[in-house]
Amino acid sequence: MAVDNTKTLADWQAKAASLSFETRAFINGEFVAAVAGSTLTSINPATGSVLAEVASCDALDAERATQAARATFESGVWSRCHPSKRKRVLLRLADLVETHRDELALLDTLDMGKPISSSLGDLAGTVVCLRYQAECIDKLYGEVAPTGENALGLVLREPMGVVAAIVPWNFPLMMTSWKIAPALAAGNSVILKPSEKSPLSALRLAHLAQEAGIPDGVFQVLPGYGHTVGKALALSMQVDCLAFTGSTAVGKQLMQYAGQSNLKRVFLECGGKSPNIVFADCQHLDAVAQSAAEAIFHNQGEVCIAGSRLLVENSIRKDFVARVVKAAEHMQPGDPLDPGSFMGAMVDEAQYLRVLDYIRQGKSEGATLTLEGEANHSQGYFLSPTIFDDLTPDMRIGREEIFGPVLSVFGFDSEEQAIALANDSDFGLAAGVWSQDIDRIMRVSRRLQSGQVYVNNWAGIDQTVPFGGVKQSGNGRDKSLHAQEKYCEVKTVWMSLSV
Ligand code: NAD
Repeated sequence: MAVDNTKTLADWQAKAASLSFETRAFINGEFVAAVAGSTLTSINPATGSVLAEVASCDALDAERATQAARATFESGVWSRCHPSKRKRVLLRLADLVETHRDELALLDTLDMGKPISSSLGDLAGTVVCLRYQAECIDKLYGEVAPTGENALGLVLREPMGVVAAIVPWNFPLMMTSWKIAPALAAGNSVILKPSEKSPLSALRLAHLAQEAGIPDGVFQVLPGYGHTVGKALALSMQVDCLAFTGSTAVGKQLMQYAGQSNLKRVFLECGGKSPNIVFADCQHLDAVAQSAAEAIFHNQGEVCIAGSRLLVENSIRKDFVARVVKAAEHMQPGDPLDPGSFMGAMVDEAQYLRVLDYIRQGKSEGATLTLEGEANHSQGYFLSPTIFDDLTPDMRIGREEIFGPVLSVFGFDSEEQAIALANDSDFGLAAGVWSQDIDRIMRVSRRLQSGQVYVNNWAGIDQTVPFGGVKQSGNGRDKSLHAQEKYCEVKTVWMSLSV
């Protein structure tokens, strides 16, 4: 789906002014207030204005939703229906999302501050994901084991049951699709818990899911806080699988909740501190510098695979960093509704202050401040790019996930040193290698501890390849056929045959 950039700032402002928001939870086919009547306030971080009061669910709502999910799963209305039916319904959902793409993109932009052009890109990815996973439904086969002739060993894949998908705010709808599309395609009942910072598009999606024909109780949406409804889902004995995207700290908590309850499967897509390695032999340094700047400053740096550690061979480092600074200077934050804005607002005050704190930390740790970002909160929470050079491995700004527009640059003198620096991290989500030497590219790619390696590009991925991390960046894979595998249990049926 090509992204339509024909709308102007005025068009988007007019559309935003005419929007109405769904604010209720979606439980068992009905839009309802939270049982306790609690709400949370959704704020537009670009203006500070209140968008809506949204239902804030807790354990009582989780109980209702998990009961409905369990009942519909056991009924077989979705879990055992003909695969071609699930495929038809999910393809219809993809069509509806595509039809409402401007509205859904706008909801994400208003809710969490990302530029509208970026939200439109997310919507394109969301539609592709829904279609891809739907198309796989009637193309995945089970297995026949290589037994002796007196037996038939069948390996069946069956849906797990009730999947709780807990997602973050940085790509609200796209991250949602990466979870719910394969989980629904495999026949599970799914409860979605969007981030408390970006619930609006998920609630609109619930309307579209109903219109597409997903049966009541098979897809439900519970907005609310992590420590209330998120925790209740994670501890529920009715939930068979947690599909999580978010921080490493919360991912660790979810594993504990699973251990304290029913040993539910826990799939985690967590944080990163991804190394982007530039060797001196690489060509077209301006283009590489532009890519390195986009790798960290896209989406205000609020990206799990942000290329937040730039490792540059010392013989070209000063020259290369100057080019990155030049590229970054053109990446200023602007009104998220302006299609020309490359960066928007930080998601909220807490995230804005957290990033500023890291910038102070970087200065006090002694890194060289090569580009100091401007901080502006006269209306919303805006931060422009900051670049530190001369990092040493012990500095916190080079080790911890900042989740904001702050780049840390390290120098290296040898391939071996570059690999050691890159792998010296708790995380292992993404890594980049820039070089013209194919032998070096293969050597380095193989040794990087990372879920994905980008060679002479950054973030060049699509629906056909799996996505996920190693080490404390998580486990399990989203996207591709591997995503459906993780929402299925493997069952062996062994039949004795008379010969
Ligand atoms: P977060 O961990 O604070 O929250 C993620 C989700 O978990 C939210 O819905 C939140 O309400 C919920 N949650 C929080 N505490 C919980 C608890 N105790 N029990 C159950 N649920 C709980 O993360 P965030 O701030 O929303 O998102 C940013 C993080 O997400 C970053 O670390 C980023 O790297 C990561 N992320 C990873 C990927 C990936 O694919 N690896 C993609 C996007 C974002």
